[in-house]
Amino acid sequence: MRSKLPDVGTTIFTIMSRRAAELGAVNLGQGFPDYPIDTRLAELVADAMREGHNQYAPMPGVPALLEAIASRLEARYGLGIDPQQSITITLGATEAIYSSIQALAGPGDEVLVFDPSYDSYDPAVRLAGARCVHVPLAPPLFAYDWDAVRAAVNERTRLIIINSPQNPSCTVLGPTDLDQLAAIVAGRDIRVLSDEVYEHVVFDGRQHYSVLGHPQLRQCAVAVYSFGKALHATGLRVGYAVAPADITIELRKVHQFNTFTIATPLQHAIARYISERADVFSGLAGFFQSRRDLLTQLLAGSPLRVLPAAGSFFQLVDYSGCEALSALDDQAAAQLLLEQAGVATIPLSPFYKVPPAQTLLRLCFAKREETLREGASRLRHWMG
Ligand code: GLN
Repeated sequence: MRSKLPDVGTTIFTIMSRRAAELGAVNLGQGFPDYPIDTRLAELVADAMREGHNQYAPMPGVPALLEAIASRLEARYGLGIDPQQSITITLGATEAIYSSIQALAGPGDEVLVFDPSYDSYDPAVRLAGARCVHVPLAPPLFAYDWDAVRAAVNERTRLIIINSPQNPSCTVLGPTDLDQLAAIVAGRDIRVLSDEVYEHVVFDGRQHYSVLGHPQLRQCAVAVYSFGKALHATGLRVGYAVAPADITIELRKVHQFNTFTIATPLQHAIARYISERADVFSGLAGFFQSRRDLLTQLLAGSPLRVLPAAGSFFQLVDYSGCEALSALDDQAAAQLLLEQAGVATIPLSPFYKVPPAQTLLRLCFAKREETLREGASRLRHWMG
């Protein structure tokens, strides 16, 4: 049978999680918490179902949730946006990304992504019939090379996808990066898709710089968010996209035939939860930073060199100092650690069009302290 994505297999996250479960390994691979959610959220979901919020939600989203999001955006960025015209609730950020790409790019168009880039971007671009152009982030610390972006942009470029905090490089965009991007798209028919699912998870006193806080970029950008990430419940599959009205109209044309509407009781519950807990997101940076610091401390002095991590649920480690792994490519190294050390990690090569020769693995620290301790202890023990 003809495949529309002949080179695509099962995602590395699914493969590693499945094998980790089979082997009883400690899963520091796929980015999901292994600790319980706030029981209040669970109560509110049950309440919403009992109250009868069980039929189709309005296509753009439940008004109470759209409004709760708009008031947070107002407080954060001073945006007086009309939620009915600018916010769309989606099936996780993945649907927001997919539907945005289908809406904004098509045959003959080019879409620019930065490698290492999240694995859903390239296939979504190709399913839209567009061409995905991969611009590498510059080693060793994955810096944005705006000269390379300028050189890659042409009259076919329709969309640039940015991701900050970035998965998997753990870097964040600064205000000058956004200015550079704004200057590149100024006066051109180019939109920006900004994946900001880790917006609250920035470390060491840094600030998150959103396209929504940038006066030029917010006119031409879709910003994408995830309640799964922000509420420690990746199984919710509720995200949202914020965009100017003209983009939102096109995005919803795709959304209504893709997922149509998102789970009604979940939307009601989330709306109430985030309204009840005014400070629900402000503690996330500290919460995850202490886990990052714990993992760093647990690996200190081991053959795994910990790279700087400015944000996200992840930490990169370089295994070139580990004798048993240093000659292996990252997929083989991750495989060996899984099978022999009993720890699942994520290799970086699946995030590249052309993987560079590098010896990096991604570890997720959105886990219970015991999980991090057990994972680090198994790694240290195996590496000797
Ligand atoms: N966002 C998650 C991660 O980076 C993976 C989600 C998925 O499995 N598609 O680990």
